[in-house]
Amino acid sequence: MPEIIVIGAGLSGLTAALQLRDAGVETLVLEAGSVPGGRIASIRRDGAILDTGAQFIGPRDPYTNTFALLERIGFAGDIQHSSNVAALVKRGKVVPYHYGSAKDFVTLPVVSLPSKVRLFAALAEIKRHAAILDFHHPERAAMLDDEDVAPYLMRLVGRDALEHLFEPLMGVLYYYPPSGVSRGFLLSTISGLGAVGTHCLKGGAQVLTDRLAAEVGVVTGARVRTIARKRGRWTVTWDGSKGAETADAEAVVLAVTADVAALICDTAAPSEATFLRSVKYTSFVGAAFFTNRPWGGKVYGCAIAADESSLLVGASFEQNKGADRVPADKGLSIAYLNAAASARMMAAPDDEVAVAARAEMDRFWPGFSESTEWSIVFRHQRATPLFEPGSVKRLAAFLSRPDPTPGLFFCGDYLCGPHLEGAITSGLRAADEILRARSPAG
Ligand SMILES: Cc1cc2nc3c(=O)[nH]c(=O)nc-3n(C[C@H](O)[C@H](O)[C@H](O)COP(=O)(O)OP(=O)(O)OC[C@H]3O[C@@H](n4cnc5c(N)ncnc54)[C@H](O)[C@@H]3O)c2cc1C
Repeated sequence: MPEIIVIGAGLSGLTAALQLRDAGVETLVLEAGSVPGGRIASIRRDGAILDTGAQFIGPRDPYTNTFALLERIGFAGDIQHSSNVAALVKRGKVVPYHYGSAKDFVTLPVVSLPSKVRLFAALAEIKRHAAILDFHHPERAAMLDDEDVAPYLMRLVGRDALEHLFEPLMGVLYYYPPSGVSRGFLLSTISGLGAVGTHCLKGGAQVLTDRLAAEVGVVTGARVRTIARKRGRWTVTWDGSKGAETADAEAVVLAVTADVAALICDTAAPSEATFLRSVKYTSFVGAAFFTNRPWGGKVYGCAIAADESSLLVGASFEQNKGADRVPADKGLSIAYLNAAASARMMAAPDDEVAVAARAEMDRFWPGFSESTEWSIVFRHQRATPLFEPGSVKRLAAFLSRPDPTPGLFFCGDYLCGPHLEGAITSGLRAADEILRARSPAG
């Protein structure tokens, strides 16, 4: 009989389960999908590897827990450095730059020199609020949760930097524009990005969740419907291969998106349920194109401002991500639809998305369209949790709630940040909370 049931085998749930197993706790991990991984998935075709969910691992700092996890499972040698050349677009022309290079930044023609100078105001803001800014704890910036990033940045750095730097970069990083985002979240996130460097995993991102799943054991095709607490234990009911199945355990970890957690745990304390229902997600649609030649030069990723394209917020060139991604002389490029286009085209036929995205890629990389051999369109209804104004305060209140439901624990990127590091950190925290609660002192 399991001691703890983990619901959801995305990165956060798998991390929590691994941490618990390492501490000698018996876990049962239930996953609704046919494979573990959640928002991490890789497709192999014609010798190419396509990540249709998370792709990039950020710098070792702030991705500290990610690197530690990769070392724990023996993947340290599989971390590949991606090209350090990124790009932005100015009047239809792709402008490459080495990120981290002060010279490239100063000469980058995408924003004006006076706008670049105004960026120091953003750095000064981060310095001013340093005591409450923490990449791993956005909730500590609750005091700065009062304003939408768009008007805030407009005042601080001006329209040029807002529209041509922040908007495209936030679009490719988190799939949402500054408008509608909390300045507390933005400043906490930027404050952690001291280092530069982009990495990916040899074999595709899914090797990570596959490996974790192999270590902890996962029951797939198990969609949990209800959880109920009786006499101090939890009974979990799911639709499995043999119809409705149940198991019980002393505690449950809900490692699903917040909206699903709210549906499953109607027995949660009212403050928990209210918070879970308040979390919003953005949607995302991407179109990947396998081409008869590589595109993008040395650029691994290009961010595109809204006044350059009403459809795309960016593109990536997978052969520059890692050495094993694409067969020699071929190309694999991903077109990222912006937030508005993703919402609009979420239910559109694949062909319609592919045709529109290919035509747009052609505008920036002439000849792209004709070189396409095949395409794959992928979608995420809930791509990343949106940290809107007010959400950071709600998160802070949730994390310090006085009435947590006994034996019920939560993890997921919505509790820390919309990235792999956020998911892993939340999984580690859930496991720590359980271990503390089980210790004689707890
Ligand atoms: C397109 C895309 C690109 C991204 N790129 C990056 C990137 O480059 N770098 C980065 O750091 N982050 C990136 N992210 C973010 C990253 O993928 C996520 O933060 C992370 O994977 C979330 O993990 P999670 O465990 O919180 O949630 P999920 O991965 O959503 O896991 C939840 C799991 O619960 C399962 N589940 C749902 N309902 C039930 C149920 N009723 N019963 C049982 N199981 C259930 C789901 O099937 C899923 O497996 C990206 C996200 C997307 C969508």
